[in-house]
Amino acid sequence: MRKLFDFHLHVGHYFEWSEHARRLWMETGPYADKIYAEDGCLDIELFHQVLLGEGVVGGVLLPEYALHTAGVMPVERAIAVSQRYPQYIPFGALNPEIHLDPVAEFERQLALGVKGLKIHGVHCQHHVNDPRLYPVYEICQERNLPLMLHAGTSVFPGTRLRHADPYDYDDVAVDFPNLNLILCHGGRNFWYTQAEFMVMRHENVYIDLSGLPPRNLLRYYPKMEKFSQRFLFGTDFPGVPGVAANVEKIAALDLTKETLDNIFINNARRLLPGFNQ
Ligand SMILES: [Zn+2]
Repeated sequence: MRKLFDFHLHVGHYFEWSEHARRLWMETGPYADKIYAEDGCLDIELFHQVLLGEGVVGGVLLPEYALHTAGVMPVERAIAVSQRYPQYIPFGALNPEIHLDPVAEFERQLALGVKGLKIHGVHCQHHVNDPRLYPVYEICQERNLPLMLHAGTSVFPGTRLRHADPYDYDDVAVDFPNLNLILCHGGRNFWYTQAEFMVMRHENVYIDLSGLPPRNLLRYYPKMEKFSQRFLFGTDFPGVPGVAANVEKIAALDLTKETLDNIFINNARRLLPGFNQ
């Protein structure tokens, strides 16, 4: 079985997700029934076994503080998984509406052990070039911590397309030229071309392929082979119809073995020196 690093894994207890998130996203896949204990808490052992069964040997764990849309899945969930299985790398998350001192909160999360940051402007209803977050981006750039930005649409009520505006992502890339920036979902629905252009224009910009139909990837990103070091496999687990099925479809695309190895695991090894599986 192919070894995979999944750059986009969500963690939280079942009851922490909003009803919309469960219905419109999580339950589009078969995993919601398999990873939670009876009381709705994430069962770390089941989470690990289910992913391992799909070939996942490591991944990035994403908390989220989306009060009005997806729910609040605090960073402690990610930390708990990584403490038991260190091949899973916890990232932090911030929402300036909740975290009035984003630097202080990020420092707290760093002390807990996070190795990067995810910002979800679409679910948290702010622009990703929000000046309140710039001091935190500065820390990420200084300490070589990757920054993931949700870059695409969302079907959850309360989300606005303007918070997925690619010009906002471009601002962050321009203002922090040494920051490793990952565009989650690579501009899903309207901005594939813009996301790929950012990969071409900015040396440190990456695309995570989570939540995209694998058979269309080369249509969305015709330069995938040329920029094979800048695309990252990810699934949006547990809201994915099938991890291994996605892998099969990507492997069937017209891409070289080297590109596939890069996408499935080697690029993650380069971006996250702490991951050594
Ligand atoms: Zn996601």
